[in-house]
Amino acid sequence: MNEQILIIEDNDLNRELVTDLLEARGFIVHQAREAEEGLRLAREHMPDLILMDLSLPGMDGLAATRALREDICIRHLTVVALTAHAMKGDEQTALHAGCDAYLTKSIDTRTFVGKMETFIGLSKTQKV
Ligand code: MN
Repeated sequence: MNEQILIIEDNDLNRELVTDLLEARGFIVHQAREAEEGLRLAREHMPDLILMDLSLPGMDGLAATRALREDICIRHLTVVALTAHAMKGDEQTALHAGCDAYLTKSIDTRTFVGKMETFIGLSKTQKV
């Protein structure tokens, strides 16, 4: 059974890079360019992990994560925040909004997939 990851990211290059890396390792990847579409795909596919860009046009990633945590169908899903800003306080802001973890762009292609596998493993351990 292949693990499913949903990436919600408006930057085409970054979204495609992440998708390529994950698909090469056998993950099924669902892609959304904006938050509402992402939430819809989350309800449809119940992915093992959601990668949530915090800076999205319209509803941003923090608001989308809060909305997800208020939706009884998908509130249990694992959300990892993606942000370009390594600003102090961002991690706390992301965690307060309901993200489980936090990753700073740009992505390190050598370690990225391993991190995703760790996040999924951890989330399963915590939820057994
Ligand atoms: Mn963005």
